[in-house]
Amino acid sequence: MSLNFKNFIKYVTDKNPNEPEFLQAVAEVTEDLIPYINEKHPTWNDLKILERIVEPERVISFRVTWLDDKNVVQVNRGYRVQMNSAIGPYKGGLRFSPTVNLSILKFLAFEQVFKNSLTGIPLGGGKGGSDFDPKGKSDNEIMRFCQSFMTELFRHVGPETDVPAGDIGVGEREVGYMFGQYKRIQNHFAGVLTGKGPNWGGSYIRPEATGYGLLYFVQCILENLDEDFSGKTIAISGAGNVAYYAAEKAVNLGGKVITLSNSSGCLHDPEGFSLEKLHHVASLGRELAKYTETYKSGQFFTDKKPWDFACDIALPCATQNELDEQDAKTLVKNGCRFVAEGANMPSTMEAIKYFHKSKVHFAPGKAANAGGVAVSGLEMSQNWIGQQWTSEKVDGRLKGIMENIHKTCVKYGKEEDGHINYLKGANIGGFIKVGSAMKAQGLV
Ligand code: GLU
Repeated sequence: MSLNFKNFIKYVTDKNPNEPEFLQAVAEVTEDLIPYINEKHPTWNDLKILERIVEPERVISFRVTWLDDKNVVQVNRGYRVQMNSAIGPYKGGLRFSPTVNLSILKFLAFEQVFKNSLTGIPLGGGKGGSDFDPKGKSDNEIMRFCQSFMTELFRHVGPETDVPAGDIGVGEREVGYMFGQYKRIQNHFAGVLTGKGPNWGGSYIRPEATGYGLLYFVQCILENLDEDFSGKTIAISGAGNVAYYAAEKAVNLGGKVITLSNSSGCLHDPEGFSLEKLHHVASLGRELAKYTETYKSGQFFTDKKPWDFACDIALPCATQNELDEQDAKTLVKNGCRFVAEGANMPSTMEAIKYFHKSKVHFAPGKAANAGGVAVSGLEMSQNWIGQQWTSEKVDGRLKGIMENIHKTCVKYGKEEDGHINYLKGANIGGFIKVGSAMKAQGLV
């Protein structure tokens, strides 16, 4: 029996109404997978591998009650989506943001399955988080929230079951509070979370990994075309961990980074950010606009996006659907030839179609931003063997993993005219291992 994309999307839409982000992620992957399975593995259709892969193995939703600094009771909703454990324990971050809902976490968990498989490390896929808004909360409020969150989550996770990490709104501080609570409840010092501090089980290079990995991936794309970073202008969105370390690595590799952004607007410095300027950006926290007080070359625009400025390389590192078809048209018109996603699903489907049509080299997040979870996998390995590797060793492993992901994308994404469809390559390359493991493990 062969599958048909339109019918399949109808089936998923009927089953998951009101989940636009999840449907978007499923469509983006299955548009490539369905023709591939029909041609190479038709028996997988009888086993309903795709119908199974879009159904989370387990979804946990729970109440998180905590007391704010004014002694007012607060109620949030916590989640963990355990999407697929065919090739390893569930692995993926926790997002704390008022925008969090089940559709967003299911899309992130779904993407994570393919991304984690691409790293070559045996990791399943999951994601979780809460609609808790960390903005404006005191340190004590963050701690009380994290402790309450883990007081329920602890029974669903474990170093061989499910290993959460950070994502938007969750960094080393939050991981620390959750880790402390898990350890207190279980009386067990275990690698149950990644993104820990380097003094208590964390890996060196984990904070840098997503941004560095993104640039290693772009380096592979360029080398494949006999090009490099010199003379190339780079527009980056975001000002968090991913954007910051992407900018740092880009500057070190010889590129000129001209934008960063946050939810208030876009910072443009046509002279480019030096390492010193980036250091200053880091000290500003959420007050990105204040940069212009110190560096007169910079301008802060509340009504512009990084994609409005001419660049050779665009690196969306903020959040989902931040780059739409109109942005794609502006980028292409201004000469942009490379787009690599540091965030998860930052480009809309229409934007991606436009990039493909315009022969822009487009690298999807599941390949290009896999460096973060890859180093999380290395953190798990270090925890298992009770060792801590040097920064150089971890960075070298990260670079090797990104090069392998690039090779996988070339293998499965090379088109007849020689152009590489990185989205197709990543979708198929990430799927094969998971699909065959599901087949091998029978009807579970
Ligand atoms: N949240 C990150 C991602 O989107 C990292 C997940 C992890 O380290 O487990 O891949």
